[in-house]
Amino acid sequence: SPMIVSFGEMLIDFVPDVAGVSLAESYAFIKAPGGAPANVACAIAKLGGNAAFIGKVGDDEFGHMLANLLNKSGVNSDGICFDKDARTALAFVTLKADGQREFMFYRSPSADMLLKESELKLDLIKQAKIFHYGSISLISEPCKSAHMAAMKAAKQAGVLLSYDPNVRLPLWPSPEAARDGIKSIWDQADFVKVSDDEVEFLTKGDPKKDDVVMSLWNDNFKLLIVTDGPEGCRYFTKKFKGKVNGYKVKTVDTTGAGDAFVGAFLQAVAKDPNLFNDENKLKEALVFANACGAISTTQKGAIPSLPDKAQAENLIKEAK
Ligand code: ATP
Repeated sequence: SPMIVSFGEMLIDFVPDVAGVSLAESYAFIKAPGGAPANVACAIAKLGGNAAFIGKVGDDEFGHMLANLLNKSGVNSDGICFDKDARTALAFVTLKADGQREFMFYRSPSADMLLKESELKLDLIKQAKIFHYGSISLISEPCKSAHMAAMKAAKQAGVLLSYDPNVRLPLWPSPEAARDGIKSIWDQADFVKVSDDEVEFLTKGDPKKDDVVMSLWNDNFKLLIVTDGPEGCRYFTKKFKGKVNGYKVKTVDTTGAGDAFVGAFLQAVAKDPNLFNDENKLKEALVFANACGAISTTQKGAIPSLPDKAQAENLIKEAK
């Protein structure tokens, strides 16, 4: 099946074993593989799709553990580089009682930030149907230049570009720098997915209002999606817009819900790129993506809770 290449950071989240406990008070931490672009690649592979990941980790136990995990998950790992000196990135993440998260990063610099343009497996990108990325790889050099070069190669080869900014404010020098950095590649994408919180951050407006969302529209886009947590998502194209309801599940950890959603949606696009022009097909893909996002919240961690196709179809059937 057509390949989706996901580009960016792969790291380890350390999450307190008890929800609602601060980092300082936490006694034990659960080691949870993550990094949104790596999660997206795993989500696609779990659904039976053809996914590759491009990024850099440390030549250390954590880096090899992560690369092995991708391999075991069925993700093509030919594009993974190992830095001889820098460590695999770590993030300490608190899960607050309301399910929201707070991040503390160890990046000084971490290996993911040191990916160089010369290390890119451009052949992998040029063969892909979709090239997917976030914004964390835009924060510092040399990774930023590698990211830009990868996007350019993808675009020249006619590959669809998919962008999920995944705003992580503590990683940027300032909120303004984050806004500018995230917007600097905005008009390049064919498909952008943002959460309602990200709409608020980027526009300073009410994310529930369609005209606020549409202020983020660019005429190069084929589709803009806003995810609304348990409520599901909204879609915006040149011709139509609408809402697709989410699923009620027993949520324990929302980490990676957006990535499960994006992976499921991109897998649908890889199979049928005309999805963007047909509202019924688009809605069907978003129903499936919502189901995948919902299931991913029912267990701790981003990757262990990723659903397969049958699990998602069951949730859709049960809810009817
Ligand atoms: P992430 O936590 O990975 O950054 P996000 O903020 O990008 O996620 P969300 O809007 O939280 O994205 O979630 C993505 C999708 O997952 C939603 O559109 C919805 O379909 C599903 N989802 C998220 N949270 C829940 C929940 N508590 N219950 C049911 N479905 C959910």
